[in-house]
Amino acid sequence: MSNQYVIEPNLTFIDEVIGLGGDTLKKCFQCATCSVACPIAPENSPFPRKEMIAASWGLKDKLVGSADIWLCHECGDCTALCPRGAKPGATLSAIRSYAISEYSGSVPVLGKLSKMVTDPKKLALLTAVPAVWFALMAFITVFMGGTMEKIFHAIGLHWAHVTDAPIAQARFVSTWLVDFTFVPVFNISILIFVYTLYKMLTDMHTNAVLEGKTDKEKLDYKEYFKTIPTVLKKVLAHTQFNECGENKSRGTAHMMVLFGFIGCLIVTTIGFFFLYILGKPGPYSQLWPFKWLGNIAGISIVMGSALMIKERLSKTDLSAYKDWYLLGLVLTLGATGLMTQMARLAGMEYVTYAIYYVHLIAIFHLFAYLPFSKLAHIVYRLAAMTYAEYANRK
Ligand code: SF4
Ligand code: SF4
Repeated sequence: MSNQYVIEPNLTFIDEVIGLGGDTLKKCFQCATCSVACPIAPENSPFPRKEMIAASWGLKDKLVGSADIWLCHECGDCTALCPRGAKPGATLSAIRSYAISEYSGSVPVLGKLSKMVTDPKKLALLTAVPAVWFALMAFITVFMGGTMEKIFHAIGLHWAHVTDAPIAQARFVSTWLVDFTFVPVFNISILIFVYTLYKMLTDMHTNAVLEGKTDKEKLDYKEYFKTIPTVLKKVLAHTQFNECGENKSRGTAHMMVLFGFIGCLIVTTIGFFFLYILGKPGPYSQLWPFKWLGNIAGISIVMGSALMIKERLSKTDLSAYKDWYLLGLVLTLGATGLMTQMARLAGMEYVTYAIYYVHLIAIFHLFAYLPFSKLAHIVYRLAAMTYAEYANRK
């Protein structure tokens, strides 16, 4: 491998970054004020000034395969001080979106989804897929629920009965059918991440070697994975957000959403245990601690995403579609989850099922489109932060 870059400007890359929200990148005149302002800029590296120049030159490979673009948490300190209004934070965010499309777009067969998820005109089609699917699942549950139970019992799953509760989501779409949908979809998403992260880490390491950021010739995966716990601690504590000057409040909202999702993950795992190991289908008593956790997690997601939306609306420049798609999805997930339960407790059967139907569609968006949407930044950022820690970013 040659140890020098060949400069090949990629004009399509520049246009796409501009279209994804980096429309001010050409205003940069390389004063380096942003590198002084940025709380994560290393002493000897002009971050994000050099990323701004690389973006305006169309150096796609240098940027897309760089760990540094993922270390920026869009605090906005650089943007606030930039004398040219070049918004380096927004440009880096656009480059990250491009990187997600680039890696997820390389996935065999499903790669086309990457362009669809970032195209507002395709939202109706992407929503129609789960809408039709869950309408079919509801039809099967409502009209063939008894037959399904008989089949389960015939194959020895004697604990498999829908529920005795008069109003329960499982009476509308059977839990078995929900899991029959989401377990494979979730696992396919994981496989997509394994595939794209391998490519991304290979590119990151190649770039780091070329730039002299590491003296490790080969990426040592064992050492890399050992670094994950250290990085996870930083992510959970939101250490980087605390270094922000301009948008410090964003850290609180971000933390609420992150911990809300972690809470929902724990509750879902416990639900699996109750249903498939103990054979106890829901709905479960509101007095159970894991129901409290679920409710607190739901409220945390709704409040966190509402705060983020409020913060975005207060800005004069409009956010890109990818941001609204993500925020809208997170708010819909939290709100419909809570409202389904409230309607059920209020005894409103059909309202419960209508809201639950929307909730299922939102979960499908989350799991099926996760590797292709901005939400993938959670996984990519964690991988890049781990790489930076592993390689002792300089
Ligand atoms: S982005 Fe703004 S602050 Fe940074 S180098 Fe360019 S002009 Fe200067
Ligand atoms: S948005 Fe914040 S973290 Fe990102 S480059 Fe600017 S100052 Fe640095």
